Amino acid sequence: MDCVTSDNPPGAADPAALRPALPSPLTELTDERFAERGLRLLLKRDDLIHPDLPGNKWRKLEPNLRAAAASGARTLLTFGGAYSNHLRATAAAGRLLGFGTIGVVRGDELADRPLNPSLARCAADGMRLRFVDRATYRRKAEPEVLASLAPPDAFVIPEGGSNAAAALGCTELGRELRGVADVVGVACGTGGTLAGLAAGLSAGQRAIGFPVLKGGFLETEILRLQNEAFGGRRGAWTLDDRFHGGGYAKTSPELEAFAADFASRHGIELERVYVAKMLYGLTTLAQEGAFAPGTRVVTVITGAP
Ligand SMILES: *Cc1c(COP(=O)(O)O)cnc(C)c1O
Repeated sequence: MDCVTSDNPPGAADPAALRPALPSPLTELTDERFAERGLRLLLKRDDLIHPDLPGNKWRKLEPNLRAAAASGARTLLTFGGAYSNHLRATAAAGRLLGFGTIGVVRGDELADRPLNPSLARCAADGMRLRFVDRATYRRKAEPEVLASLAPPDAFVIPEGGSNAAAALGCTELGRELRGVADVVGVACGTGGTLAGLAAGLSAGQRAIGFPVLKGGFLETEILRLQNEAFGGRRGAWTLDDRFHGGGYAKTSPELEAFAADFASRHGIELERVYVAKMLYGLTTLAQEGAFAPGTRVVTVITGAP
């Protein structure tokens, strides 16, 4: 066996070893609510990129994983709520590529309860979970708080995985849609995906983001990310704030009926927290006459149920 000294630790694997299915497939659906307006509806199947790092999670994590490996870090540390897809994807990436992972979870009350299925999956992938109270969690970006949470050699990825590297990674999604879309709809949590997607589109194309959280802080956050990643506002993008349905992971009989109807029309089960709200919003816009006849509407399927 090779002698590996502690000041020359073996690096973690390059994320290319995970063989993502890129570019993701683009498929057309016949949906009469779009067809009767002269619109085409296409699905950008980012949910098929990788079974453990689906959708925008791959696009956002990949540049961060490469940076972490290049820096020689052996441990990734990141943040999320109790049902965070980002925590799950980071835990899986750690297992597959040979990083240790630490997940800082919002809510110290969770420490005394059995893990929910999402956190149990993180733990099974080897993630060390650290539950912090909400006040501390809110201050997690402050240097003293961060220093108390993160070992000095950890590579820190922000909540939701959204930073400049992630936005740069998502420009590839926009580039894959050049020439095939007029309008692109995407669900927004932290807005990192929209920030990059819009920057990757070409002139004449535009993106519409559908926030799934209530609050209206997202515009500022997306501008901040675009400033950091690209040096200013990029691409044509807007937000439609009408479809969060009361807040994160909140559902309604109306949304459930929409998703059930979509499954029976097309045989596709929609992820509820993000994708169903976005498609419900986009379908409503189509029926409101928001798009001119002939418009190619592409909907980004950012994740699977
Ligand atoms: C994380 C996630 C999003 C949100 O992406 P942001 O870049 O945080 O806006 C959207 N859809 C799905 C399925 C997700 O898991």
